[in-house]
Amino acid sequence: MHLSVILPCYREATNLPVMLAALQKVLEQIPGTQEILAIDDGSPDNTYEVLCSLKPQYKNLHIIRFARNFGKEAALTCGLHRAKGDAVVMLDSDLQHPPEVILEMLEKWKQGDQMVYALRRNRDGDGWLRRVYTKMFYWVFRTITDLDLPEGAGDFRLLDKKVVAAINLLPERNRFMKGLMTWVGFKSGFVYFDAAERTSGQSSWSFKNLFMLAINGLTAFSTVPLRVWSLFGVLISTGALVYMIYLVVSTLVFGIDTPGFASLMCGVLFMGGIQLISLGVIGEYIGRIFNEVKDRPIYIVAEDD
Ligand code: UDP
Ligand code: MG
Repeated sequence: MHLSVILPCYREATNLPVMLAALQKVLEQIPGTQEILAIDDGSPDNTYEVLCSLKPQYKNLHIIRFARNFGKEAALTCGLHRAKGDAVVMLDSDLQHPPEVILEMLEKWKQGDQMVYALRRNRDGDGWLRRVYTKMFYWVFRTITDLDLPEGAGDFRLLDKKVVAAINLLPERNRFMKGLMTWVGFKSGFVYFDAAERTSGQSSWSFKNLFMLAINGLTAFSTVPLRVWSLFGVLISTGALVYMIYLVVSTLVFGIDTPGFASLMCGVLFMGGIQLISLGVIGEYIGRIFNEVKDRPIYIVAEDD
């Protein structure tokens, strides 16, 4: 059995020595061969140098360096392109995903699960705002897409090589990995794990990043935001028709009334707002079409051993 481990690394210089040691300890308990694909996602610190200096200690370590920061999703995509294993595990390199869990995942895999995702038992490390926000995201996502995104499942997963091949077939540039991995289907199972606090360094996800990720995910997997405007249009024009009939009749019966400035302004402003919002949503999708059509590579490799 050949096992591939994908490690996306961004500003992880201090974490990597500990991480690789912990990972190696676990890999030693697994029969067969292994490879570790460490992908330096254009880190501004000395992550790449640290990886290179660790290379002699870990014969099965492959280091890939991106030409700039392309994001975690791109790093994972690159890892999946390169991985040769019968099973592929993706985990964060900041020690928040304990490598021991890989053993449990492999058990599940041997029992026939083609995808095993690790569910976080606790989200205590996150603030309440982030938790509320996460809950909201999953709810919206499940409501407006056909995908049943497993809640609490991050990118810490084991994939069978068939699943990897399927994901590699998906051509989109916009890599919302959680969505893509759910979209391809396959028999899935899960294991639980306790996410550790980040030992050092800063989480590189700001609220803005997460918000963008959510918008990305939603627009990549649903056209409901586009279609909902037709519904609004029908509702508003029905309302307008009723109001029009009322105006005509009341004018005929009671004569010309004093023109209503307030209702006129409300109507104009409300409709203006609705039109701008719907235009914005359409623009969002056109932007995405533009990005896909440009057909640029998802990542660019600068250094590869
Ligand atoms: N990461 C990456 N590129 C980025 C941001 C993050 O490869 O642009 C990696 C990072 O090195 C880590 C994983 O993605 O291994 C998760 O990142 P982080 O710990 O910052 O996110 P969080 O744990 O807060 O979700
Ligand atoms: Mg982390």
